[in-house]
Amino acid sequence: GYVWEVRKPDLMMQIPFWGRIESSEKDGVTSFRHVDAEIVAAVPYDLPVVGYGTTTVNTLRLWNAEPYAYKAGRDMMKYKRDTEAITEFLYPDDTQDEGKVLRLKQQYFLVSASIRTILESYLSRHGDLTNLHEHVAIHINDTHPVLAIPEMMRVLIDEYDMDWDSAWGVTMKTFAYTNHTTLSEALERWPVRIFQPLLPRIYMIVDEINERFCRDLWDAYPGEWGRIEGMAIIAHGEVKMAHLAIAGSHSVNGVAKIHTDILKEREMNLFYQYFPGKFNSKTNGITHRRWLLNSNPPLASLIQSAIGDAWIKDPSRLSELESYTADSAFLGDLHKAKQLNKKRLADRILQTNGIVVDPDSIFDIQIKRLHAYKRQLLNILHILHLFNRCQENPDADIPSRTFIFGAKASPGYYYAKKIIKLIHSVADLVNDHPAVKGRIKVVFLENYRVSLAEEIIPAADVSQQISTASKEASGTGNMKFMMNGALTLGTLDGANIEIQEQVGDENIFIFGLRAEEVMKQQQDGSYYSMEYYHHDERIKKMLDQLIDGSLPDAGDHFETIYDSLLAENDEFFVLRDFDSYAKAHERVASAYRDQESWLRMSLINIARSGYFSSDRTIAEYAREIWRIGGVGVR
Ligand SMILES: *Cc1c(COP(=O)(O)O)cnc(C)c1O
Repeated sequence: GYVWEVRKPDLMMQIPFWGRIESSEKDGVTSFRHVDAEIVAAVPYDLPVVGYGTTTVNTLRLWNAEPYAYKAGRDMMKYKRDTEAITEFLYPDDTQDEGKVLRLKQQYFLVSASIRTILESYLSRHGDLTNLHEHVAIHINDTHPVLAIPEMMRVLIDEYDMDWDSAWGVTMKTFAYTNHTTLSEALERWPVRIFQPLLPRIYMIVDEINERFCRDLWDAYPGEWGRIEGMAIIAHGEVKMAHLAIAGSHSVNGVAKIHTDILKEREMNLFYQYFPGKFNSKTNGITHRRWLLNSNPPLASLIQSAIGDAWIKDPSRLSELESYTADSAFLGDLHKAKQLNKKRLADRILQTNGIVVDPDSIFDIQIKRLHAYKRQLLNILHILHLFNRCQENPDADIPSRTFIFGAKASPGYYYAKKIIKLIHSVADLVNDHPAVKGRIKVVFLENYRVSLAEEIIPAADVSQQISTASKEASGTGNMKFMMNGALTLGTLDGANIEIQEQVGDENIFIFGLRAEEVMKQQQDGSYYSMEYYHHDERIKKMLDQLIDGSLPDAGDHFETIYDSLLAENDEFFVLRDFDSYAKAHERVASAYRDQESWLRMSLINIARSGYFSSDRTIAEYAREIWRIGGVGVR
């Protein structure tokens, strides 16, 4: 196995699923027993996490699911398979009920083992749980661990005999929640018919939390049924995990300014009206020690030769690089570092994809999860348009570009898989086509993951961050690219807005509708994608190509995409933003021709990326949410 990981079988926990709850009365107090449950063992594996240049070593506790005891009358092989599946797949397909049960099992398994560990270890040191929140902060990262809230209530009440109100007070003051998306289809909602039988005691507690919460709402808003229904934790046969997270936490934050504003003003507006003091913003960050120091040695050593190494512990000091923006020799070295990284990536592309790419071409990169709102479709359609231009005029003055994609689609996401197919099909059409004369290459690197991102990002000239404005909560890929000297081609969405604030309009390429415009047109229904099809010949031509046999191996694969853009009125404003996007690409291409100026822009991006280090983000969480100081922190 992995040598740093230490199995701790003596700290095993028993996690119950299914079964029934029996209640009994004693001295006027009702207590509950979970009987006839199927027990799964949670076995810890501890991994030390070492601080950079400090004496601190923290422990990351991972859990493995293992069979605990075979129960007579049950299918032993099925029990074994179901148990092992809990920690085998990170994100199983949850389009069917079987996958949903597995996801919910995973969530409760991890949360229960962790909450009980925290409480047991606290109790062994303090002897009493009433002041837990003064010493422990628990952060809920997205809604996946929200069951930690009812689990803590269960342990405090059922195992430590606390009364409801005291338990709720301690729980609320201990938990904080970070929201990561406003896309309604991504907000977790569990059907009661799945939740209740799998986690019978937890369901009872969630039901009680909901009853009390709705009663408080009724007191605050008497007679406002619609409002209360919109905020309820259980409604229409579903448990709403984000609502439970907000009700059970003392802090709720978004991950970029615009995202927090949209949460407050729109998606979670009812909650903001009721709990205005809970909401705050923490712009995401990335660790510059991984994404610059470790993954880009040529750039890291150039920076070190210029400004020393104080930036490694204090990323705000990257700003000292600004004094080199007029230094031609330094800019020349910056160019050399970039070319070295591009050459390395070109070699890898030749090895893995068999495609020859020119390290002197613009490396224009979009790597991120495949999702309709991230609009890989806009990018690939624009590439098809560039191809059409080459065909119409083989001598068109088109600069050499290498378009690189990396993206995974979740297993049940059919539309996303069609987009991946389209990227491959356009690549097959364009690469080696005589009319293109090698000026456009399209590369799809498979199995996109952190280790691959670390190879790709140092080689980027252009970072594509082109989500439909209002849809990308923050993005962090945008920050990694900026820190490695790529220029952003993007919409005013997520943290792109804060990148623009840092670098100024002249060092970023912004295009497309703004968030308010998107949200307004969504509301008033004033957008008709069909008009763009009929009035823009470029758009008509490339959409027709999706379904008329122009694309290699197309079959009827792209009809779904064609329909999404026309019959379904282009939910993500791809056609609406196309013209603005094409123009932004022209600005990029002409800016790249002036190498000295491009390198200056690149250096300004690097120098102003310190704000996006997670050192800054974590310091804000520590100070403003967890209210903890650091050990040996400046
Ligand atoms: C940084 C990163 C992401 C997030 O990228 P976005 O462009 O912000 O969506 C996703 N996957 C991997 C592997 C990453 O390294």
